[in-house]
Amino acid sequence: MFADITILKASPTLTYQVPAHLLNEIDIGKPVDVPLRRQTVTGYISDIYSERRDGKSFTIREIKALSDTLPKLDENYLELLKWVANYYHYPLGEVIRTALPSQRAPKKITAYRLTKKGRALNEEKRTAFAKRSGKRLSLIKLLESKDVILTIPSDFKSAYSWLKKNEYVASFKQKQELSEAVTTTADAISSHDPHSLDPPHNLYCKLKVISLNEDQERAYSSLINFINANEFRSMVLHGITGSGKTEVYLAAARHCLVNNKSVLILVPEIALTPQLLQRVQDRLGVSVCVLHSGLTDHERYRQWALINEGKASVVIGARSSVFAPLKNLGLVVVDEEHECSFKQEDRLRYNARDLAILLAKLNKATVLLGSATPSIESYYQISTGKAKLEEIHSQFHSNHRPKVELVDMRRESKGTTISNLLARRIQDTLDASKQSILFLNRRGFASWLNCDSCGHVPQCPNCSVSLTYYEYKNMIRCHYCGHSAQAPTVCEECGQDNFRHGAIGTEAVEKELNKQFPTSRVARIDRDTISKKGELESILKKVRDNEVNIIVGTQMIAKGHDFPHVQLAAVLNADDSLNIPDFRAGERTFQLLTQVSGRAGRRGEQGTAIIQTFDPDNPYIQFASTLDYTSYVRFELEFRKEHRYPPFSRLARVLISAANADEGRIHAERIARHISQINAAKLEVLGPAPAVLQKLQNRFRWNILLKGNSAAELNALLRSANRVWRQNIPNSIGLSIDIDPSSLL
Ligand code: ADP
Ligand code: ZN
Repeated sequence: MFADITILKASPTLTYQVPAHLLNEIDIGKPVDVPLRRQTVTGYISDIYSERRDGKSFTIREIKALSDTLPKLDENYLELLKWVANYYHYPLGEVIRTALPSQRAPKKITAYRLTKKGRALNEEKRTAFAKRSGKRLSLIKLLESKDVILTIPSDFKSAYSWLKKNEYVASFKQKQELSEAVTTTADAISSHDPHSLDPPHNLYCKLKVISLNEDQERAYSSLINFINANEFRSMVLHGITGSGKTEVYLAAARHCLVNNKSVLILVPEIALTPQLLQRVQDRLGVSVCVLHSGLTDHERYRQWALINEGKASVVIGARSSVFAPLKNLGLVVVDEEHECSFKQEDRLRYNARDLAILLAKLNKATVLLGSATPSIESYYQISTGKAKLEEIHSQFHSNHRPKVELVDMRRESKGTTISNLLARRIQDTLDASKQSILFLNRRGFASWLNCDSCGHVPQCPNCSVSLTYYEYKNMIRCHYCGHSAQAPTVCEECGQDNFRHGAIGTEAVEKELNKQFPTSRVARIDRDTISKKGELESILKKVRDNEVNIIVGTQMIAKGHDFPHVQLAAVLNADDSLNIPDFRAGERTFQLLTQVSGRAGRRGEQGTAIIQTFDPDNPYIQFASTLDYTSYVRFELEFRKEHRYPPFSRLARVLISAANADEGRIHAERIARHISQINAAKLEVLGPAPAVLQKLQNRFRWNILLKGNSAAELNALLRSANRVWRQNIPNSIGLSIDIDPSSLL
């Protein structure tokens, strides 16, 4: 018998012989210790077979033993990881390492218990103990009551030594307990008093139950039908922010729990949704496993192990939680499915939205993609019949949609940040004691400094980008590598001292607002003001409690927060995202503008949204200003089709980087030539071209873009090419394959 063992580093999967004594114990997904050169390493059994496959006759080494330093993986789960490795051209061992918590099984800890002799103590001995030292008897009593204890109280140390020496008490090593804290649904049901008249099901009815409105009810019941089918199903839930999508999927999650199925909820960024957890707890009444980047390695390990043991039935987390090894999965929710944060942009470049669909497929479960602006890819799934569309038509608390006003910035005086109309609307909003929220996706005071005499713009020494100017700290800083320096007083090129400010950022807007509205309270929310854990939550609370009047921020404030007092929402520069050289620029702009307008006017009152733009006739801006998703989607699908962009084609990007520009270019060209030699399927090949961000953290970057009719076509070429590249490309060259790239920068 032979087994393929995947070791958790980049090395390929290796074959080992299964020794006779392990024949009955091996299984796919079990961790084992194997010899590798002169070491012993741990890996996972990824395949088992009886005939040797390499056709060679040299003896191969044997598996040493089963290991308990890594958790056992379900075959189904390993299937997912194998698919990921194959699809994203990433070594399986590395994929497993990405999926597993970084910490290994916790160390064994010392515990104490009575020996046989200690348990057999008769009354006579007890009295004798009590006479000599009360402590000895107390410790014995403690151990009798607890069975096992993990620490000896400090003032019992000498009593313990004596008892141990005389073999009444023994210490031993035991596996650390995972947790007592997580109540599973099954626990909740079983702890329910069996003599009460309520069937366990009614336990849920005692929780805060809300009744759904007509649209929600329709979406909910078709979702329930999907879940009950026990087959793979896919649904897109389209509804503007505040329409009640979350309530629909929480109701469906509850249905899963009652039926002993588990639920995975993926959100774009867990830090941005602190209220969601409370809501989940209120609606479902079970503890929720939350996976987020703020967990310590140990906490993450515990959560992961609990899930792997089937002890957690609801998991919420950001993209990496798609690797949570849930058992008995019934529903996978991807909230705000259009967000690009579901795509990982380094190492294993997976898209958690796409993996969520696969996960549901492998588990015969339902996937629900929720969004106010479903991505073009997801919408296309509806038109091809692969996914069902459900819609919620208005906000839950209001039938009004925001009134959207466009401001043509070409008509404002040069350098204006806040147009006349916007200033008036802010004042009206202040007068009504409501809040305004202003969105600008640029941090700092100005995105660059510009010498007025010679035109020089200070650049990052490590990246091909200009340095952002921060007035308050008088610094210039790179947002890509973190480089920072004192702001220059004179130009390093010409020695003059007239700097002008480039495109202004949130810091400058904050200053401007303080000047124009001196009595109002302004809050700025971006990554410069929110650096520590808890800071965001406290500022969001101030916003919810109406303690600030005007909020200015980046992407962070566009996301799904529930701001009950916001009456006015504005996008200061709608063209920013339109001008990005990417075929998705239009889609991103529409999504962003829709999301920001969705912030305006909750709780029954009509809000106002203002879009400031230099390009008011642009179709995406027009669609956003009329809140017309249907026309936008039609237009965008037409555009994608005409230019053969996804979803009408599939893309893969090969990203080549090197510290030396010439060396990088030579290899990029070599790789492109190799691709064209083996390009039997006649894929379209673009490049190599210098990446838009040509230099990043001192490495020069090139892109080769491949366009094909199907993922299979692209993957076939990349698989055979990758094998050659891995062997022939020096270590100084960085090479990554980006399947279904989300950004082409
Ligand atoms: P979305 O997820 O679409 O942004 P939410 O589910 O967060 O919308 O709903 C917006 C607000 O309306 C929330 O405060 C929510 O509790 C409330 N809400 C939604 N549906 C209902 C309902 N059926 N009954 C009572 N309140 C609801
Ligand atoms: Zn830099």
